[in-house]
Amino acid sequence: MVQNQFTLRLVQETDSILQRLGVARRLCQEGERIVHSPLTGEAIANVRDADAAAVTDAIGHAQRAFEEWRSVPAPRRGELVRLLGTELRAAKDDLGRLVTIETGKIPSEGRGEVQEMIDICDFAVGLSRQLYGLTIASERPAHRMMEQWHPLGPVGVISAFNFPVAVWSWNAALALVCGDPVIWKPSEKTPLTALAVQALFLRAAQKFGDAPDGLSTVLIGSREIAAVLVKDARVPLVSATGSTAMGRAVGPQLAQRFARAILELGGNNAAIVCPSADLELALRAIAFAAVGTAGQRCTTLRRLFVHDEIYEGLIDRLKQVYVTVPVGNPLDDDSVLVGPLIDEAAFSMMQATLAEARMHGGQVTGGERHDAERYPGAYYVTPALVEMPEQTGPVLRETFAPLLYVMRYTDFEQALALHNGVPQGLTSSIFSNDVREVERFLSATGSDCGIANVNIGPSGAEIGGAFGGEKETGGGREAGSDAWKAYMRRVTSTVNFGRDLPLAQGVRFDIG
Ligand code: NAD
Repeated sequence: MVQNQFTLRLVQETDSILQRLGVARRLCQEGERIVHSPLTGEAIANVRDADAAAVTDAIGHAQRAFEEWRSVPAPRRGELVRLLGTELRAAKDDLGRLVTIETGKIPSEGRGEVQEMIDICDFAVGLSRQLYGLTIASERPAHRMMEQWHPLGPVGVISAFNFPVAVWSWNAALALVCGDPVIWKPSEKTPLTALAVQALFLRAAQKFGDAPDGLSTVLIGSREIAAVLVKDARVPLVSATGSTAMGRAVGPQLAQRFARAILELGGNNAAIVCPSADLELALRAIAFAAVGTAGQRCTTLRRLFVHDEIYEGLIDRLKQVYVTVPVGNPLDDDSVLVGPLIDEAAFSMMQATLAEARMHGGQVTGGERHDAERYPGAYYVTPALVEMPEQTGPVLRETFAPLLYVMRYTDFEQALALHNGVPQGLTSSIFSNDVREVERFLSATGSDCGIANVNIGPSGAEIGGAFGGEKETGGGREAGSDAWKAYMRRVTSTVNFGRDLPLAQGVRFDIG
């Protein structure tokens, strides 16, 4: 009864938010795909899937939009992204709330995800006046060499459920200032937030005035829709975020047609806690990174190596956190820090992994289903801390749930080798006040990940830095630094302003 009332309110609230954000009712109340909220597991909306013909049409529209958009001066393109940022600022609470409803994130994380969208828009607006190339010294007299960066073409974006809107914005804000339209296939588990973002984009485009149609398209549907996008030769770049299994399918198809790929795949992130660490700070950082977002961040802390000398004290306190951290429906209780898993499959995977960990000698604290009577269709779990004798079996994989493996170490070199001894390479941290350990961790022989942090956890990156990881994480980079270059094509030009024609490398070719 209590749940029914909550579900009813949730359906009404979802509808009101979608209306305020400008999503037409026909887009979220009709269609064969039922959208569930992980907060209750119950249906909150219906959407219609695109079909293959709609994907092909969208690519055609994007292609035509590209032909116009690439000639618009980049700072003017930045104006559209500025307007998008303004829409996002105004919609932050509503869109953040919708993220919570659709993914189960706690409200501050839902709003935080929208803040990340606003941040990347600000970054991209500045970038629109900074798309610069090099001037390079030529070996030939009266010659000048330079690099120019030109728009690339329509960019396909495939995104995962756990950052349903931020990932699009990391790609779209950069792509748009770089002169590229965006075609987005969001996760089939989170179509509502995608429809809402598209509505906000259209508002910004209307205020902009003369943005071509087809600059941004959303295609709702499952992986088959993404597959059409991946195969189409008119899409020169696909940015795909999701599991390593997805990257294994998508990567070779893109390579087959020589398209560019930005692959942002699974992580298996670790931290090393050294004897000199500030343990209070480390404890808070570890707790947020391991149990925050119910362990459903690509950057979630999954492996922890703790020095023998401090192991007992730290792990006892961490276990206290694990048994007391408030788990539940974050819209029902403001104190909740751990919301639900996305669905039953995620819960079953977590339970199977815990059973496997036990077979490998793991001692499990937590990991039980929570609130099952109140929300039978939702999957709340207490976070699981697993003390492992060795880094074996499931520790080598990413399990997308709040599941932290803890291991002891005595020798820093051994800890570093174990840290790097997994197939994934996304984020990493060291907690230490010993400059030798810290610098070693950050050096060429240290962490092999795309992100290496000191005295902060591995999750919660800022947009100013390039984001992504190595090995099975796919090697892609998004967001800050020079990640924009992936969205443009580089032209190297040499200009002869003399009257002679000297050839490079001293080659002679006298035709008389
Ligand atoms: P997923 O791989 O199941 O799905 C991600 C997206 O890929 C969805 O849109 C899905 O429809 C599509 N997809 C899946 N298989 C496909 C295929 N064979 N061909 C084309 N498209 C396909 O991932 P998920 O469960 O939504 O998200 C969780 C995973 O995403 C985790 O592994 C997490 O680490 C990863 N992730 C990585 C990053 C990063 O930046 N590295 C960020 C967020 C999530």
